[in-house]
Amino acid sequence: MNLPEQRRETRLDRYFDAYAARTKGLKASAVRSLFAVASRPEVVSLAGGMPNIADLPLGNLADSLADLIRTGGPQVLQYSSAQGEEALREQICEVMSLEGIAAQADDVVISCGSQQALDLVTRTFIEPGDVIVAEGPSYVGAIGVFQSYQAQVVHVAMDEAGLIPEALRQAVLACRAAGRTVKFCYTIPNFNNPTGLRQTVERRKEILAVAETLDLLLIEDNPYGLLALDDGPLPALRSFEAERVIYLGSFSKTFAPGFRIGWAVAPAAVKEKLILAQESATLCPPVFSQFAISRYLATWDWRAQIDRFRVMYRDRRAAMLEGLDAHMPAGASWTRPGGGFFVWLTLPEGLDSQSLLAQAVTNRVAYVPGTGFYADGLGSRNMRLSYCFPPPDQIYEGTRRLGEVLAEAIDVAQTFGLTTPLPLASSNPEPEN
Ligand code: PMP
Repeated sequence: MNLPEQRRETRLDRYFDAYAARTKGLKASAVRSLFAVASRPEVVSLAGGMPNIADLPLGNLADSLADLIRTGGPQVLQYSSAQGEEALREQICEVMSLEGIAAQADDVVISCGSQQALDLVTRTFIEPGDVIVAEGPSYVGAIGVFQSYQAQVVHVAMDEAGLIPEALRQAVLACRAAGRTVKFCYTIPNFNNPTGLRQTVERRKEILAVAETLDLLLIEDNPYGLLALDDGPLPALRSFEAERVIYLGSFSKTFAPGFRIGWAVAPAAVKEKLILAQESATLCPPVFSQFAISRYLATWDWRAQIDRFRVMYRDRRAAMLEGLDAHMPAGASWTRPGGGFFVWLTLPEGLDSQSLLAQAVTNRVAYVPGTGFYADGLGSRNMRLSYCFPPPDQIYEGTRRLGEVLAEAIDVAQTFGLTTPLPLASSNPEPEN
């Protein structure tokens, strides 16, 4: 007998009826479900977004951490405050000053990566059914958090200069006209994950002006701002407007993700809510990690280390762009990022990134299909290619293997006369690169 999907699940999982409604939207991250195949040694993975941290001063770090425990163990291995260590919050203000932010240690709330800051902000603001407007495409992990709180994600288009202010205005007004509550706008102004695009300074000011007229809160998610590869960092949205922006930062890409330390800077009243949310979520963020990062910032030339990362990622980006120029078929297009980790590729008409993945992995190359970066099914003609982890020759080889897969798929499509878009691709917007 053919039972409907829901009944079959009920029979397999005795707790099916007991789960909270908010768990219904949860699904495995597109990236995580790829990890097993993509991490096989023969596969060049252009899928994951893992920073390449092998060049960190690991020996010095090991000595420093051993000394930290030896000399400060009873304190650094103890519980501490929910807001986070004051010394680290002061150092974070110094880091943020590179992007023009003038904040005080008291404005900062430390979190377990910026991922948890996203969670704290969302749980603080979102009732089921509230709308979050988010630039499209957006970071898959943010969409996952928003959906786990039963928010409706409405995407706003981007162009080369980032989120389009007029599209933002229209999306918010349309939601409000339909009686919906829009709680905030989510944006990744620097080297958006997955497109690699960066908002121009002018665009930032226009977005802030629209937010002002709409009385809209902005979430500025910024893990890649200091990883500009061709020039310096741009002023953050938060640097222009303190009261309308919640800024999220992270040490994951500029130092190491394993410490799981990020932070939020929020208007005073919101900050108090975030501290309460942090207290109920974790009691306090990881204390040892905070001391470890604080000592690293105090004793190591972290600016020079970021510069070394930039040189390393510049080489990898060059390998990716050279490879794409050499191996992509006519009709494909892609972004040329000025920083961060990712290139966003748009396939020729008629191809679908999800259905090509199995062939790609068979041909020993992996990527993330574009649909994971939209909440509404768009992105089927896109894929995210990351250049952060494999060495440059491998990245180049990965693009060559991808080129083979696409050439074959185009051959098949032409043989079967599929010159018009497949049904899945028909709702895909034109490439934004
Ligand atoms: N935001 C964006 C845009 C990201 O790309 C990531 C990680 N890939 C995060 C937030 C979360 O990073 P973390 O929790 O390590 O700080």
